[in-house]
Amino acid sequence: MMNRREWIAGTSGLAAAAGSGLAQSLRKNIVISSANGLAACKKANQMIAAGSDTLDAVVAGVNIVELDPEDTSVGYGGLPNEEGVVELDASVMHGPTRRAGSVASIRGIKTPSNIAKLVMEQTDHVMLVGDGALRFAKTFGYPEEDLLTPKSRLAWRVWKQSLKDASGHNNWAPGLWAPTAELKHRFPGESEEVLAWAWEMAVHPTTGTINCLGLNTKGEISGVTTTSGLAWKIPGRVGDSPIIGAGLYVDQDVGAAGSTGRGEENIRVCGAHTIVENMRRGMPPTEACLDALKRIARNYNNDKAKLDKFDINFYALRMDGVHGAATLWGGKRRGSNYAVNDGGESRHEPCAHLLEA
Ligand code: ASP
Repeated sequence: MMNRREWIAGTSGLAAAAGSGLAQSLRKNIVISSANGLAACKKANQMIAAGSDTLDAVVAGVNIVELDPEDTSVGYGGLPNEEGVVELDASVMHGPTRRAGSVASIRGIKTPSNIAKLVMEQTDHVMLVGDGALRFAKTFGYPEEDLLTPKSRLAWRVWKQSLKDASGHNNWAPGLWAPTAELKHRFPGESEEVLAWAWEMAVHPTTGTINCLGLNTKGEISGVTTTSGLAWKIPGRVGDSPIIGAGLYVDQDVGAAGSTGRGEENIRVCGAHTIVENMRRGMPPTEACLDALKRIARNYNNDKAKLDKFDINFYALRMDGVHGAATLWGGKRRGSNYAVNDGGESRHEPCAHLLEA
């Protein structure tokens, strides 16, 4: 049995190894992300290979997803809050300088990750929220724009018009509300495919985010997480993505971790910080992610019926280049893959999972 002092000595030795020796043996630059980041990982790794800083690279990578009008979970085109306004959360951490920045509930800015980076670089603060964050972005020349696309506006209207009070009434859509015929009637000109998607969004509000972590062969690591958060949220709701230690955590001595999925669950276990600390104590990345998921399951006494109501995914990249990811539910759910790029084309690798659906 180790006594306490020996255990502490052992763990700090491991941290030192992770920070120096392990990193030195790294032959490839590695970028990982949530499943929606194949293009982001490729872009980031190309930039790292060309000599860019790891944080500049991962932010440029996620900018692709933030600016993509088809991605309805991040940046421009993200699904809005209950009032039809898109509110965004983002955070960044730069390993080499051990700094962090974030913005929460920011409106009107397509690339909130850039603003989180500006908070880190240009201020003495870590986090700006709401109107202050928007005014800060404007100081740096970012225009305030309408972030709704025709597609995300349609999904919001379908959701709003599908709500009913206890008596089954809705002033926006009097009478019975049926997903098919009624939808076509109220939204003439929309294709069946788009209406089916919008109905699905209304009935099962999505979450979605991109977390991206990058490590170069010099042993420098950084990360970013950016999202439009939970669809139809209460205005002002902040998820885990901008919370340093929940949606993102980077420690230059150990590695990095991030999350996508139901932010409320993650905030309660400080998931990304927990994972990095698990790795510091010697847990491999995938096990470190599974341990964070176990803590979430424990918060519900492992009651599968309650856990069935949400998804959550964790991603981890250690300083020696070993990476892993885990999702709460195996099988049918999204998040069963994550994106990896260690040069050339990106690929999907499977996430481990805690529970079988
Ligand atoms: N984690 C994000 C949030 O809770 C949403 C998501 O990743 O799906 O805001």
